[in-house]
Amino acid sequence: MAQMTLNHISKRYEDEITAVSDFHLHIRDQEFLVLVGPSGCGKSTMLRMIVGLETISSGEVIIGDEVVNDVPAKDRDIAMVFQGYALYPHLNVYDNIAFALKMKKCDKHTMDCRVREVAKLMGLEYLLDRKPESLSGGERQRVALGRAIICEPRVFLMDEPLSNLDAQLRVKMRTEIIQLHQRLKTTMIYVTHDQTEAMTMADRIVVMREGVIQQVATPAEIYQHP
Ligand code: ADP
Ligand code: ADP
Repeated sequence: MAQMTLNHISKRYEDEITAVSDFHLHIRDQEFLVLVGPSGCGKSTMLRMIVGLETISSGEVIIGDEVVNDVPAKDRDIAMVFQGYALYPHLNVYDNIAFALKMKKCDKHTMDCRVREVAKLMGLEYLLDRKPESLSGGERQRVALGRAIICEPRVFLMDEPLSNLDAQLRVKMRTEIIQLHQRLKTTMIYVTHDQTEAMTMADRIVVMREGVIQQVATPAEIYQHP
């Protein structure tokens, strides 16, 4: 179970820029939350604080009923996928997917089973020997997703994961991400500035502006009262 509370979170950077101001929201277990808003409104900062890559100036990130502010990123059970795929260029698909398990000193048999399971789920079984440079954009994004889910995260964060793909592939990957979310039963926070992505993927949409929450609504509510 991974319901979350983002409890009155604020972030001031050292140069006194307030990136996020009193962000307060409950997120249901397995909810698909989409975060939208203009560039610079604090979306990435919010994700980085949740995953543990950025300190919080005030407030709490609560997962289940645990405050994780002081839990290191690697122990939070949160996966994050970025806009650039950030695959390891010198490693093949197998080793890219396996990477996090190797870091955890997972035994070889368990690792091999998990990698093959994830590869199958992501349709990558026949590409395990390939290097990232020889893959298409969609295949690379699937490797990035596979690498992120190998540790069975409680929470999945995605920061504009499709913005580097062409329009046709974006539509296809949209469906794949929705299906992946349903299979994994994780809680999802997905950042995008694509209206259609937000409206088709979200259970709820959070609109941010200048570091604050401006609106929280379901796609149906936004459709009726834009
Ligand atoms: P978004 O993801 O919505 O584009 P960001 O979270 O990246 O917004 O940025 C929010 C604000 O915080 C912006 O004003 C940005 O310039 C500032 N900011 C982001 N990262 C840093 C940083 N590492 N140091 C100082 N200011 C930053
Ligand atoms: P090491 O980390 O010990 O140098 P490798 O990274 O080469 O080993 O591989 C670790 C395990 O993963 C091996 O048992 C190997 O069979 C398996 N493996 C690596 N790459 C592939 C692949 N492309 N397809 C299938 N199995 C692979």
